[in-house]
Amino acid sequence: MHCPPSASCEADPIERASRDELMGLQLERLKWSLRLAYENIPYYRAKFDAVDAHPDDLRELPDLGRFPFTTKEDLRQNYPFGLFAVPRDQVVRIHASSGTTGKPTVVGYTQRDIDTWAGLIARCIRAAGGKRGDMVHVAFGYGLFTGGLGAHYGAEKLGCTVIPISGGQTQRQVKLIEDFKPDIIMATPSYTLVLAEEMRRQGIDPAESSLRIGMHGAEPWSEGMRHEIEQSFGMRAVDLYGLSEIIGPGVAVECGDKGEGMTLWEDHFYPEIIEPETGRVLPDGEYGELVLTSLSKEAMPMIRYRTRDLTRLLPGTDRPMRRIERISGRSDDMLIVHGVNVFPSQIEELILADKRLAPHYVLELHRKGHLDALDVVVERRNAEMVGDPARDLAHQVKSMIGISVNVRLVDDGAIERSLGKAKRVLDFRPKD
Ligand code: ADP
Repeated sequence: MHCPPSASCEADPIERASRDELMGLQLERLKWSLRLAYENIPYYRAKFDAVDAHPDDLRELPDLGRFPFTTKEDLRQNYPFGLFAVPRDQVVRIHASSGTTGKPTVVGYTQRDIDTWAGLIARCIRAAGGKRGDMVHVAFGYGLFTGGLGAHYGAEKLGCTVIPISGGQTQRQVKLIEDFKPDIIMATPSYTLVLAEEMRRQGIDPAESSLRIGMHGAEPWSEGMRHEIEQSFGMRAVDLYGLSEIIGPGVAVECGDKGEGMTLWEDHFYPEIIEPETGRVLPDGEYGELVLTSLSKEAMPMIRYRTRDLTRLLPGTDRPMRRIERISGRSDDMLIVHGVNVFPSQIEELILADKRLAPHYVLELHRKGHLDALDVVVERRNAEMVGDPARDLAHQVKSMIGISVNVRLVDDGAIERSLGKAKRVLDFRPKD
């Protein structure tokens, strides 16, 4: 098919480069990025100076370990525009997090940043099996959240036909999927299941829909959830990772490669894995917290940003870039119940493994006396149930995770459905 200059049908040359070529590019870009932060953002300069680290100290990639981390708190302290490296009139777009836990974190983009981001999303769609001419139903939220507009510009850049439906209006979404027959859906995994549910309610079998590829992210999800989505829609469900502080969605994606894990676009983001408690950089293959440094972002370079996302680095497959394993949870999502660390995704795996239970659940934390107690509230499926799924799930959680939980079964539809990121944990403990 003829490809117009603005649409990329072929892999970017760097996707075919050697690992050495990639690392050469990373070093050059890392030097540029450190210098940009140091020379243009007083906050970074002060932080670097405080630990006696200067951009000239970076000679090899591992020297990055001498530089201080950046956290969400640093963004909050510099609210709204304190971490911008360019004059405000060069910033063509602002996004922000919801800010439910205090001040929102604000991010900015130059025109070149927007083009880079679109190029990366285009790469992600192509790597996931999409192509120019495909129709893409974007059900990530549009607005300050990076999901909708990020996906939108990238899909257009690849030369796709975009349906910018955003989140919500679920009945209407189902009608548009039926009528327009999109090839690809981009949405949170939890919302994709809401769409499947609405289709069945209308007597439509989701597996009969036109969708071939689902690109899902913005929230943690399990292999069980992937299986449920793939079975429901008869499509391939691909993991898509990103965060607004680094650029938005499109930082890493599962490619058509063999093996598990998401290829991280290392030509634009330099990954490290650290031990969360000490900040020590861990070797590839070990589990820890993902730390990312932007290599090309102009408006708001991010140096060693602590994502709080837990994963490990895996070797690349068809491309020189390394992969990250499915995010197992966020260090700040971790629940500590009776001294045991628990991630919602571990409980999700067990729920999804029981066909009598629906993939809709919340975890409630209560205080009973001096002890924390965890209630797993999960919907039963409509189908006839045999046995006692609540007791079985509690037993599974005890034997696989090692904690006692109280499982409450509720009726189909009783758990509030998410239109974007699902809220999995409700904390009812008294604030003391
Ligand atoms: P926030 O939720 O902090 O307002 P974002 O919308 O940028 O900001 O969310 C980014 C976060 O969403 C990531 O740090 C990660 O925790 C989560 N996330 C994004 N994509 C995925 C994914 N594919 N798997 C698991 N978690 C993801």
